[in-house]
Amino acid sequence: MSIVVVGSLNMDLVVSVPRFPVAGETLLGGDYARHPGGKGANQAVAAARAGGAVAMIGRVGADAFGEALVDGLAADGVTTEAVAALSDVPTGVAFISIDPGAQNTIIVAPGANARLSPDDLDPARFDGARVVLLQLEVPLETTLRAAKLGRGAGARVVLNLAPAQPLTAAELADVDLLLVNETEAAELTGIAAAEVARAPERAAAALADLVPAAVLTLGAAGAAWAEAAAYSAAGAGGAPATGLVPGFAVEAVDTTAAGDAFAGALAVRLAHGAPLAEAVRYANAAGALAATRPGAQPSLPTAAELDAFLAERGPSDEPQRPAGDEAT
Ligand code: ADP
Repeated sequence: MSIVVVGSLNMDLVVSVPRFPVAGETLLGGDYARHPGGKGANQAVAAARAGGAVAMIGRVGADAFGEALVDGLAADGVTTEAVAALSDVPTGVAFISIDPGAQNTIIVAPGANARLSPDDLDPARFDGARVVLLQLEVPLETTLRAAKLGRGAGARVVLNLAPAQPLTAAELADVDLLLVNETEAAELTGIAAAEVARAPERAAAALADLVPAAVLTLGAAGAAWAEAAAYSAAGAGGAPATGLVPGFAVEAVDTTAAGDAFAGALAVRLAHGAPLAEAVRYANAAGALAATRPGAQPSLPTAAELDAFLAERGPSDEPQRPAGDEAT
């Protein structure tokens, strides 16, 4: 398996509400919808759709939600042998309410995800992995053990620092690449969020002081990257190499899972040995396509869709100008 994802699987239960209830209140909502989710599962599906050979390691409950989640992953070609169903704990669930202004509230009941322990990680599952992709929705000690096993197996260890949590240098010791959004970057570096947005390459460089490489996603603006000098072609020493890869202009309808689409696609290109800036461009395309479609996993693009999109947009990273708009 070239990509191993160690992370969460949740069933998202989504209901629209006329407004959010206050304490003690009972409120009638609309019909509820059930969607597979969890950052781990979303990123596993994103990577599999983007062309990766993906194995997932996680935990669900021995219940209907767990079965549906595992079947869904398998239908997308993800290997699920290491997603065990536990009989004494329910599958993780996210209770999501959405008001008429499209604001949401989310309550996560981690259930079986909280039971994925470091001892559950069989080192043999990491053999041959090119990339190990991690998030922070399972116990931290499990994520850190997965990083160590991934590093030991010679894989590139990518940690998506979501939900944001400040980690120490020791905890980041086995991480090769940190993937963060602006909020997470601010949380980890202590740089003010406004400053991260104003100088994203500088923020990415600050992250690359902590780990060999970092990618900072910037919503519609794309992503900044930084690679510690020892990792870049320039050789050891000196300031990290940095770059900004502009996002693709699209008609965004729902950016849910854009970050997960980005993470999965990035992992696929890195597993193929692509340089970081090139992998980021591919990931920007995945994030942009996901933003044009509603929902989480249903919005994640396939490799064929990504190839067609990139072919249409051309080889340049420069923002596309309409014809006749050239400077004279
Ligand atoms: P998160 O959802 O984790 O906060 P971002 O909002 O930064 O992450 O989005 C992740 C990536 O998805 C961006 O780096 C970009 O490539 C893509 N993306 C997100 N929103 C848009 C958008 N409106 N237009 C184009 N690309 C987008």
